[in-house]
Amino acid sequence: QARNLELGNWCFFSRELELRMVSERQMELELRHAIANDELRLYFQPRHRARDLELGGMEALVRWQHPRLGLIGPGDFIQLAERSGQIVALGTWVLEEACSQARHFGAPLFVSVNLSAEQFRRPGLVAQVRSVLEEAGLPAGRLELEITESMMLDDAQGALETLKGLSELGVRLSMDDFGTGYSSLSYLGRYPFNTLKIDRSFVAQLKEGSNLAVVRAIIQLGHALSMTVTAEGVETAEQLELLRSLGCDELQGFYLGHPRPIENLHELGLRASK
Ligand code: C2E
Ligand code: MG
Ligand code: MG
Ligand code: MG
Repeated sequence: QARNLELGNWCFFSRELELRMVSERQMELELRHAIANDELRLYFQPRHRARDLELGGMEALVRWQHPRLGLIGPGDFIQLAERSGQIVALGTWVLEEACSQARHFGAPLFVSVNLSAEQFRRPGLVAQVRSVLEEAGLPAGRLELEITESMMLDDAQGALETLKGLSELGVRLSMDDFGTGYSSLSYLGRYPFNTLKIDRSFVAQLKEGSNLAVVRAIIQLGHALSMTVTAEGVETAEQLELLRSLGCDELQGFYLGHPRPIENLHELGLRASK
């Protein structure tokens, strides 16, 4: 056990070092190349209805298939994309690709897409989403946009207008990583969010008698505001059963399915009719 852990740590640090040895400037140039040259990939993670475990939709999660470094997760390049002003191009790629691939899921499955703060702040997002949906031929009701609490902070009025515009298109909106941000609860009721995604840190601590009250309260809060409540990071059967018994509506996590490329969607019993 200890040996495994050490090995795990070693792999982790060596990976970090490898990524760090490439200078920021070089990574920036390589990322620019990646966006233009088809090195980005979307992985899709299933979101299941808690009641009967039916598949409801998928979350699109971006990866970078780097020619030298292999598959890189968003934790290792989203911030670089933000610092270097490439996040809008990257976000546009993700949105277009996710909507066009979602058509292959078949109705009524939805796709959810993570937005970054910069994308959300930019004027013209509503018009962009409308035209991407049209281009892809995807009904607005099958797209959900995931927004984090911290994105509400700088310009609450602007955020409200953007959210209203998106909501009027018929797009669903979710509050991602709920409970980890710093913003006040007051916006939740006023803003048109459809879904509340409980951050996986709450789910990870979810054991009989511990943290149960907090998760129950979050679920009740969501329901009181007529929101669908989704739990992220479900890794065990025990967590699944507890969340179900607390009335959580939707579940997502490694126990139900890892993120995977669209080619592997048949593992979920879907045809990827590419
Ligand atoms: P997120 O939106 O909260 O996405 C969920 C993350 O949790 C994913 O990591 C997913 O692989 C991971 N996860 C899912 N189930 C489990 C589980 O059972 N256990 C554990 N330990 N982890 C689980 P990933 O793909 O590395 O993405 C990390 C974050 O990067 C995302 O967090 C999201 O904030 C951001 N991100 C991903 N794709 C995009 C994108 O296209 N645009 C933007 N702006 N951000 C993205
Ligand atoms: Mg998300
Ligand atoms: Mg999340
Ligand atoms: Mg999270």
